[in-house]
Amino acid sequence: MDTKQLLQLAGEFGNPLYVYDAEKIISQYQWLQKAFSKVGSLRVNYAVKALSNLSVLNLLKQQGSCLDTVSIEEVQLGLHVGYTPDRIIYTPNGVSMEEIETVAALGVQINIDNLSILEQFGAKHPTTPVCIRINPHVMAGGNSNISVGHIDSKFGISIHQMPHLLRIVENTGMHINGIHMHTGSDILDIEVFLYAAEILFETAIHFKELEFLDFGSGFKVPYKKDDIQTDVEELGKKLSKRFNAFCAEYGRELTLAFEPGKFLVSEAGFFLAKVNVVKQTTSTVFAGIDSGFNHLIRPMFYGSEHYIENISNPKGKERFYSVVGYICETDTFASNRRIAEIKEGDILCFRNAGAYCFSMSSNYNSRVRPAEVLWHEGKGHLIRERETFEDILRNQIVLDLTIA
Ligand SMILES: *Cc1c(COP(=O)(O)O)cnc(C)c1O
Repeated sequence: MDTKQLLQLAGEFGNPLYVYDAEKIISQYQWLQKAFSKVGSLRVNYAVKALSNLSVLNLLKQQGSCLDTVSIEEVQLGLHVGYTPDRIIYTPNGVSMEEIETVAALGVQINIDNLSILEQFGAKHPTTPVCIRINPHVMAGGNSNISVGHIDSKFGISIHQMPHLLRIVENTGMHINGIHMHTGSDILDIEVFLYAAEILFETAIHFKELEFLDFGSGFKVPYKKDDIQTDVEELGKKLSKRFNAFCAEYGRELTLAFEPGKFLVSEAGFFLAKVNVVKQTTSTVFAGIDSGFNHLIRPMFYGSEHYIENISNPKGKERFYSVVGYICETDTFASNRRIAEIKEGDILCFRNAGAYCFSMSSNYNSRVRPAEVLWHEGKGHLIRERETFEDILRNQIVLDLTIA
């Protein structure tokens, strides 16, 4: 997609606006497929939480993708657009036994990440196949909030608890059909990833009825020009080889699964917002946009640096700006960033706005959420309407204070 097309969409659908490029999502999907083409059976479970719009789920379904879900609602979204239950894996953390049982009853693959639930579930449903999420204790990932494999992480069953885990499986007679790990986002060092994979293999060898090994995610995508990213070809080459050797040793061909979220949708997304005010203080030029962390929280929450371009004046002379939102709290999208000269009314475009952007948006400050558009085959299609004030009122009940 080019800036002209984006500017046109901003005019057509209004601001602020999320735009997703379908072609980019498809090419990322196919790139991953290709990198692992040497593996007999590859399964890509798209992590719904990254971007859960139904049309995006539908697009990936058409490509042959499966889904990784973390809540019963995400499972329901998948079913709603026609994913069959066998194409969905459910990897919750800290949810109730009831929710897990409800999802299992739908025929969705359950992935359990703690011994307490494993024991209860195994005792009650010994014939339901269960995947186990292990924590290999490999430190990976850039930000401590998204690094989930370290020793004090709340995710997964520690590999040091293997004896207890095996005891539970034996006592309940439950059927373990998969082993899973997800060490966190932003894995750059393939050797570190392969090291974690070895731990997964060592765990897997204890289970005789496995059908798949799920390596989670951790693909780093570029956030700016020349930014580092996971070398998918290299990972594909090395892991496929090791995986195939493991299958030979194990005596059965297993499915290799991944659960990419960011990798599939991050770069496909653009967030467009209008500049309401340019404000010069004694030290800084602020560009205040018609949005805030209610619509895009990653810069404030994770310190993420989204590339920002002034698409109304792409060739303009560059100046330094701090781009801020309209929330009545400090909500800085970028500090001291070189951007082509900004005038009030210009449209700024934030890159990498596909993953964890709309899906983490809220109505804070009683603002409506933006519309979403899917750019498909050269045309913009509205895939979520902009919220209205009715949506802000929805579900609220004004207590009649005169009747008490
Ligand atoms: C969030 C999540 C993912 C996706 O992570 P990305 O960094 O977006 O690729 C995969 N698996 C599990 C279990 C997750 O919770």
